[in-house]
Parts: sequence; structure tokens; C-alpha cells
Amino acid sequence: MKKNDCIFCKIANGEIPSKTLYEDEEFRMILDLNPATKGHALILPKDHADDLYGLSDGQASKIMLLAKKMAVKMTEKLQCDGLNLIQNNGEAAGQTVRHFHLHLIPRYTDDGQQLGWKPGETTQEELEEVRKQITG
Ligand code: AMP
Ligand code: ZN
Repeated sequence: MKKNDCIFCKIANGEIPSKTLYEDEEFRMILDLNPATKGHALILPKDHADDLYGLSDGQASKIMLLAKKMAVKMTEKLQCDGLNLIQNNGEAAGQTVRHFHLHLIPRYTDDGQQLGWKPGETTQEELEEVRKQITG
């Protein structure tokens, strides 16, 4: 179902024009308006989900399959040297549009982008505690 006043619902369903790379009954893939690199694209479900937690299992598996297919195609056509899949959930994680989207960001040697995190430090004890917290 679409959500009123959701810009990505409108884009995914063709009510707002976009540079579409792929479309089927359930998904639209578009070029990002503020690309991190040449070819930066977003996979959007046509049915609204706020984020990863709101996706059905069926949507989740189809999105990864589509991402794989399009990553192969983009790498071939753009001749990029690598590609990042990024997907933000929640404000704390950097999500700015509350409609699920998966970023495909082609990477070029020396493209000057810095996508990533600052490596932290931990201990075996801490790792074990976290492991128990997640699996327990
Ligand atoms: P995130 O920070 O993961 O929520 O990413 C939101 C992304 O949506 C950013 O990369 C924006 O540049 C992109 N974006 C926002 N509005 C539009 C739009 N109307 N068309 C295409 N991309 C958009
Ligand atoms: Zn939406």
C-alpha cells in the first residue's frame, strides 16, 4: 500500500518523474538526485515500508536479487571499479527518507568518496557478551 505524503511512494509509483533504471510490478530503481558517485541508484518498493523492519520476506529476498543483477549490469556499463550496497534504517543510522531504499553506489578508484566507519576497539570478553546478547 502507498502512504500519503511519502515522496518515495510517489516516485516508486510514477506520480513524480524520476530517472528510472528498472521497473517491475513491485519495485522501481532510480538514479539518486544527489549522487555520491556517477550511477548512484536507489531500489524502492512500490508498497510503502518505513525501513528494513517493515519489509516482507518476499520483498527482502527480491530486493537482494535485483540488487545483484543491477550491480552486475552497472559495473559492466559504467566500468566502475567496485560498488557499495548501503541501506540505512532510522535517523541514528542516517536514514533521511522514511521509505525503504537500498543504495547502489558504484565506486571508482580515487573517486574521493568516504563511505564507511571509524574502526573501534573491543576485547574477546566484550565480543562474547554481545554474541550472547544477540543470540540469547
Ligand atoms: P538515506 O539517507 O539513506 O535516507 O538516503 C536518502 C537518499 O535519497 C539520498 O541519497 C538523497 O539524495 C536521495 N533522494 C532524496 N530525494 C530524492 C528524489 N526526489 N529523487 C531521487 N533521490 C532522492
Ligand atoms: Zn512510501
